[in-house]
Formats: sequence, C-alpha cells, structure tokens
Amino acid sequence: MTLYLPGGTGKELAIGLMGGTFDPIHLGHLVTAEEVRLRHNLDHVIFVPSGNPPHKENRTVSDAEHRYLMTMLATITNPHFTVSRVEIDQPPGTPTYTIDTVRYFHNYFGSNVNLFFITGADAILEIITWKDYRELLSICSFIAVTRPGYSLSKLEDTIGAVCPQALCNIHILEIPAVAISSTLIRQRVAEGKTIKYLTPESVTEYIIKNRLYRPAGTQV
Ligand code: ATP
Ligand code: MG
Repeated sequence: MTLYLPGGTGKELAIGLMGGTFDPIHLGHLVTAEEVRLRHNLDHVIFVPSGNPPHKENRTVSDAEHRYLMTMLATITNPHFTVSRVEIDQPPGTPTYTIDTVRYFHNYFGSNVNLFFITGADAILEIITWKDYRELLSICSFIAVTRPGYSLSKLEDTIGAVCPQALCNIHILEIPAVAISSTLIRQRVAEGKTIKYLTPESVTEYIIKNRLYRPAGTQV
C-alpha cells in the first residue's frame, strides 16, 4: 500500500479504515466511505478486504485476489481512497481479527494519526463479540453508519445495554440510504440479471470477464 498523505503541517491526521468482504464492492460501500470522510473530515480512507474465510454464512467467499482487484478498480478514481493487502496476505486459513488489523495500522502510522473504523449498522453489533474490544476502542474510534433494514434505535439500545462504556467511542452517523448489498449483486448475477448502477462499471466488467457468481456450467 502506498499512501501519500499531507505531511509537515503539524496537523494530526485522521484516517478511516473500512473493513469488509467486498464480494463484490458496491455503491453502498463507496457512498459510506465518502460520506464518512466528508462528515468526519478524514484525510484518507483505507479499504481492507478480509482474508479468505473458508465459509461465510454457509457460502464460499470469492478468492481474495478477485475481491482485492475489484476493490482497487472501484476506488481508483478517488485520490482519498487506498486499498490494503494486510488481511488478504495472511496465510490461508488464518483468522483475522479486527484488533490485529487496527493494531497494525496503529503501529504503522504512529501516534500522530487518529484511526476511525467505519462499519455499517449491522457489522458494528459484532463489536461486542470481538476479541479484545476494549483495547480496540482505546486505540480507534468507530463510526457506525445507518443502513436500510437495520434499525438505528436497536443499534443504540444494543450497544448501550451490552457495553455502555463503549458508547463514547462509537459515533453513529446517518448517511444517504443505499439499499444495496453484495448478496443482492451475487443473486442478480446468478440469475443472469443486470447489475447496472449497483457497482462501478469496471467492477461489473470484472465480474463478467471472470465469470464470478455464475452457477457452475453456465454459458456466457
Ligand atoms: P454481504 O451481503 O455479502 O454481507 P455486504 O453488502 O454486507 O455484503 P460487506 O462486505 O459484508 O458488504 O460489508 C462491509 C461493510 O460495509 C460492513 O461494515 C457493512 O455494514 C457495510 N455496508 C455494506 N453495505 C452497506 C450499505 N448499503 N450501507 C451502509 N453500510 C454498508
Ligand atoms: Mg455483510
């Protein structure tokens, strides 16, 4: 990952980390990252595609290289976006914990950089089951964005009830609603339907060229 950050100003930098499976990346992810960047005045957002989990919710996740390349294609036109290989370069089968990734960036950038982990309203709820979440919240802030289908009050209640002390380091941000998910895109492709406007055109072309998400034996 090469990152050109404004230096020498003496100003503390603010960097967003956006983790995800990105199978595939879509406009919901991009709108989220850009909206958080603008509203929280972040200097940069680093997308961190997850390593190769053997299975996620009973399905096989696409190869990490495909997910990495699609994330690169989708973010290439934004000078404030970068993609990191830190999780996908882990040996196959190694579970990656968010705490390890955040620690990695914390050490990489040093104390002059404030880290913000960006998640959707669904993913933030997993925070409370994350390994070492207390340490996580001490070295990184969280920005949980609203996502259609996930209730904001439930989010506030759940976080407040389970770990009230964590609330101070978790910011909830309402963003323009984009009801797109990777699941929807995979389903559309599997059914031979269009995915126009759900993801950047370059990603659509990549999916078609590499025949991702098509049932085995499907002709082009
Ligand atoms: P899948 O359907 O396979 O679970 P997904 O669309 O949820 O895919 P992920 O890669 O699982 O995408 O999500 C990465 C992060 O982006 C998570 O924090 C998730 O909550 C957030 N996110 C994904 N889509 C949206 C969206 N449309 N609006 C807001 N946040 C989103
Ligand atoms: Mg998801």
